[in-house]
Amino acid sequence: MARAGLLAGLSEENGRLTRRFGTPALAEACEAVSGWMRAAGMTVRRDAIGNVIGRIEGAERGAPALLLGSHLDTVPDAGRYDGALGVLAAIAVVERLRERAGELPFALEVVAFADEEGSRFGTAFLGSSALAGSFDRAALGRLDDDGVSLEDAIRSFGGDPGRLDGAAREPGSMAGYAELHIEQGPVLEELGLPVGVVSGIAGQTRAALRFTGRPGHAGTVPMELRRDALAAAAQMVGEVEAVARHTPGLVATVGDIAVSPGVANVIAGQADLALDVRHPEDADRHWVVALLRRRAGEIAAARGVECDWGTLHEQAAVRCDPGLTGRMWQAVQDVGVEPHALPSGAGHDAATMAGITSVTMLFVRCAGGVSHHPGESVSEADVAVGVDALTRFVELAAERLSYEGER
Ligand SMILES: [Zn+2]
Repeated sequence: MARAGLLAGLSEENGRLTRRFGTPALAEACEAVSGWMRAAGMTVRRDAIGNVIGRIEGAERGAPALLLGSHLDTVPDAGRYDGALGVLAAIAVVERLRERAGELPFALEVVAFADEEGSRFGTAFLGSSALAGSFDRAALGRLDDDGVSLEDAIRSFGGDPGRLDGAAREPGSMAGYAELHIEQGPVLEELGLPVGVVSGIAGQTRAALRFTGRPGHAGTVPMELRRDALAAAAQMVGEVEAVARHTPGLVATVGDIAVSPGVANVIAGQADLALDVRHPEDADRHWVVALLRRRAGEIAAARGVECDWGTLHEQAAVRCDPGLTGRMWQAVQDVGVEPHALPSGAGHDAATMAGITSVTMLFVRCAGGVSHHPGESVSEADVAVGVDALTRFVELAAERLSYEGER
């Protein structure tokens, strides 16, 4: 908790926590984390994008590694636990297992990803995608608000844009990836549980909807002659909510509406909606998105307005590995907590890592589900349960691998 406090002070801004990719604040955080890794007996390196990777060998030098980690970057005006807690908990696990590391059937690595939030370049998962070999080189030309390219930012951060391919890990060099993260939602608090086992990470569709009607005078155009784009949009917002409420596991949100011309005495000629749909099962999400698209068309037709639908982003759902997740479940039970499985509605580094290795996640309860906000808060007791469970998870994973090795 003290280390989380110390990292919270490493910020681009005075008085609030903002630590985006490639900034001096992130470099300082990487330095601090590297020091704690070394003190825990790990050898430390930085990869080509700037991820910090600490390693402690197991029984056999050069054996595949079980990776534990999360990210060190933050959103602007962030809380201090999103990402950082997973890195610090991983280091705490290594500290506890240090004396026994030489008996483990795998090496232990702690990964502190340099970018997950994507707050600086409008991308996400830069750190884990480099490690997973899914880094999109087209992103190198992206500019931040000051006109600095991602390519230059990587270079000035001590990385090497030319060697990003080399940062990708061979799947055979890993025994899996486990991430502890704050829940960022209210479910565990509601259940009165300190931790929860993540079953999977929801898939996501983002779409832009535009209703185009006919602007007109709010006083002179009779109701039956109107083609009101905002009224259509409003009906659609209600439809999105109703469909989500009636579909188990689905969350759907219209988070923004831009109205034109947007004045009190003019009927809206155009309304742009930002839609976000998430579900742990891709088939359910696709079905709902198709339904909403059809409903938008029906609403538009009934009102004599046009509707355009643009899909901006699609991300497939990620299922956590049954083997590792079974160990995580057992670990939670072993530390005296009733295990509970819950899906993650938010994206995490584990989703990217799932592209190259088996992943599992443990959520820690956070007060009020508040995250991406300075009010983000966890209790010391819950963090202790989380570190206990993650430690126990590593022990159980070791038992399983030893058993499979003998077999
Ligand atoms: Zn995070």
